[in-house]
Parts: sequence; structure tokens; C-alpha cells
Amino acid sequence: MKNMIDAGMNVARLNLSHGTLEESLERYSRLRQAAVELDEEIGILADLPGPKVRLGTFAEPLLLETGSTLQLEPGEGQSTSSVFPVSYETLLEDVQIGDRLTVGDGSVVLDVTDNNGNGLACRVLFGGLLQGRPGIHIPADRLRLTTPTNDDLRLLDAFIEVGIDMAALSFVRSAHDVRRVGLEPAPRGPLIVAKIETRAAVENLDGIITASGAVMVARGDLGAECSIEDLPHLQKDIIARCIALGRPAITATQMLESMVTAPSPTRAEASDVANAVFDGTSAVMLSGETAIGSDPALVVATMASIAERADQEFDYDGWAHQIKRDRLSEPQSIDAAVTDVMTMATWRAAAEMGVKAILCVSRSGFTVRAIARFRPQAKILGFTPEPRTLRQLTMSWGATPMHIERIDDIDATINRAVQLSLANGHVRSGDVVAVLGGSSATIGSTDTLRMVRCP
Ligand code: PEP
Repeated sequence: MKNMIDAGMNVARLNLSHGTLEESLERYSRLRQAAVELDEEIGILADLPGPKVRLGTFAEPLLLETGSTLQLEPGEGQSTSSVFPVSYETLLEDVQIGDRLTVGDGSVVLDVTDNNGNGLACRVLFGGLLQGRPGIHIPADRLRLTTPTNDDLRLLDAFIEVGIDMAALSFVRSAHDVRRVGLEPAPRGPLIVAKIETRAAVENLDGIITASGAVMVARGDLGAECSIEDLPHLQKDIIARCIALGRPAITATQMLESMVTAPSPTRAEASDVANAVFDGTSAVMLSGETAIGSDPALVVATMASIAERADQEFDYDGWAHQIKRDRLSEPQSIDAAVTDVMTMATWRAAAEMGVKAILCVSRSGFTVRAIARFRPQAKILGFTPEPRTLRQLTMSWGATPMHIERIDDIDATINRAVQLSLANGHVRSGDVVAVLGGSSATIGSTDTLRMVRCP
């Protein structure tokens, strides 16, 4: 874990689909400890399984031949070479003859040919290797299960107890699913990350983004729900909408998949990471590469260097003008409207004056995320007195989380933020910086911008 942090990891995802709650909690404590020992802010994201359907465990890896046949049966237990239990009680009622089911993020595709009352007969359209306890993708509009499940809420409770920073909801279909989690908004509660992996979520995108703290383009399941040729365009659209609404977007799954075993990525994978950066993603995510891969720290270092190089080529100006056009058309509240215009004004002032840094003082981190939308070329220093906000800012594009004491007076706050930036070597005496903060008791959002020459 320390090697991955050293290599550039900012956020660690604990995928709660695997292992026991106790194992995940133990990993959580070790991560917290590693971050403290390295004196780094690391965000931790608990990824709730949602109604994920899985096959029974394979005692040993099974190579499925294209054209072979097998049977899927509702239930638990071990898979054999021809009968696979499926953890979905109403499998026989809900899945129809002619449906296509994908297994293990697309490595195997099955065609349902018959329903004999005990199970579904399937023909293997595309064969491949199955191991462990792979997920099976049943089209979301066939599934009766909704998210969050009772099990999700039980897992979430346990992680709230230990102070989790972010929680991801799987198979979200509407803003209602996000609201059903019923948590206090961040930073009192964790930042909720909605995973976009169903067709319904794509249709209800704006509502879901607005109800969430961040969004993940969960390409594994999304790629099974939609046509594969649509996936790159959905990725672009989801990221663009998300950033315009001031929420971080994560691009996930198979980014450097070959590095589960290989020491370097394929050329296509390297391009995928760079293109996600060009699409405007706030974060890029690794899954199997770091969970079961042969050299997790090397994968993180490889991804970090591809992303840093892509950042150098990013069209910052073009992006900011696009966001200016696409940003909130009808802000939901006066606070949101004030944050929207103030962050836009800050981006413009920072660009025109060529400031060294934007110092943004924010309790919830929302203003930092709103300024990050514009991808300013000046570094963003996100000041907050809230420890959880600091860790949530690790997922924001380009933001360095900085701790500041709680100060009520706006002048004293600005002076302190400048002092801390100088002390930490982010700016030098004589540099001009833009400082964003809140001064009004009636408006809860950031309403003050000041251009300051550092003493
Ligand atoms: C995905 O489907 O791409 C994803 C990130 O979700 P999970 O890893 O839980 O399958």
C-alpha cells in the first residue's frame, strides 16, 4: 500500500464485492495507517456491491470453448464444468430466451437458448477463461433487484462508523436510488459516487449527477449494457456533463488490464488512459491490476506517468470555454448560483493575470470542485478545516488538499491561506495569487475573490 501511495495513488477503492466485511475493514485500517506514516492525504472509497449477480465459485480456472453448451441454475454453491449456479433467485422468470449474458466484464458471452424449468440452457458465443467467483451481467431492465440493497446499507453503516470518505453505489438507475442512501451531505456524510453502468442511468444522468457527489463511468458493466461502439461516446458525454455540474468523474475498468500480468501496458491501453484525460476525467481507476496484479505499484506509476504526460498536452483553453458554455444553466439555489459565477470569475482573473496559484477556502470542498471544472493552469490549493473534506479532495482534478484552522474573519482567513501556501513552498514572495473564500453569514457559499501579492 505504501508503495502504491509513493507511486501516485490518491484514492484507494475497496471493492466490497470481494472478501468479508472484516477483511475490508482491516484493509481500511492498514490504508489509514500507511497514509499517516507517509504523511499523505489518501481518500478511501468503499464500493458497495449493489445487486451484483455472480456465478458459483470455480474451484480451478475453467477455459470455456466457443460453441460449447452449459446450464445456469438459480442458487449458490460451486460451479462445475457445465453447470453454473447463479446468485439470483428469479433467474428463470426474469431472463428470456435470446438474452445475451456476459461474464467477467466481457471475457465470456452466453446466448440463452432454452428454459427447461430447472435452468437456462446456454450456448457459449465467445469463450474464455473463468476463475474465482465472476460476475454475470443480466440486463438491468430484466433485474428485479434495486440499489442500494439491504446488504449495501449494512456494509455502509459499518464503514460510516469508521469514518469512510466516499461510498460508491452500484447499478444506480435514478436520482431516487442515490437519495435512498439517506445520508447527510458531505462532509458530514461520505461523498456518494454514483456508478453509471445501466441504460436507465444514462437516461437519467443529470438528476443522478445532481444528487451525487461524484460519478464513475463503470465501463465493465456499462459495456455489457450498451453496444460496445457506443461506450467511448457515452464516456465522453458522462464526463462532460459531470464536470459541467461541478462533480468529479472517475473513468474505470480495464485501463491497464494487461498489466495484471505484464510489466508494461499495450499501446491501446496507454492511449485509453491519455484519452480519458483528454475527455476531462478527474480520476482514472485501476481494478484487477492492483487487486490481484503481479506488480501493483508499477501499474500505479505507469498510469501516473501516462496521465501526467497527457496533462501537458491538454487543451486547457478550449476546455474552459466549453465549460463556460455547458455549466449550470439553472442553478438550483442562490448558493449554487454564487459558487458558479464566483468560480468562473476566478478562472478568468487567474488566466488573465497569469497567477501562480488559486487558493480556495471551502468547508465542504464544493467550491474547490467548482473551480476545478475550468481546469485552470494555475495550481489549485484547496484549504479546509474539515479532515474528511481534505481526503475527499484527493479525487478532485488538480487540487492539493491543504489544512487550515477554522477562522471566522475573511481577512484573517485570506492572510492565513497565503501564509500556509508560502510556508509549504507552493508560492514565493512576490507571486500574485487568487484567493476565494466566504465572508457572508447569509450566503453559505464562497462569495469573495481577492487578488493578493504574496508578502
Ligand atoms: C465496472 O463495472 O466497471 C465497475 C467499476 O464496477 P465493479 O468493479 O464493481 O464491477
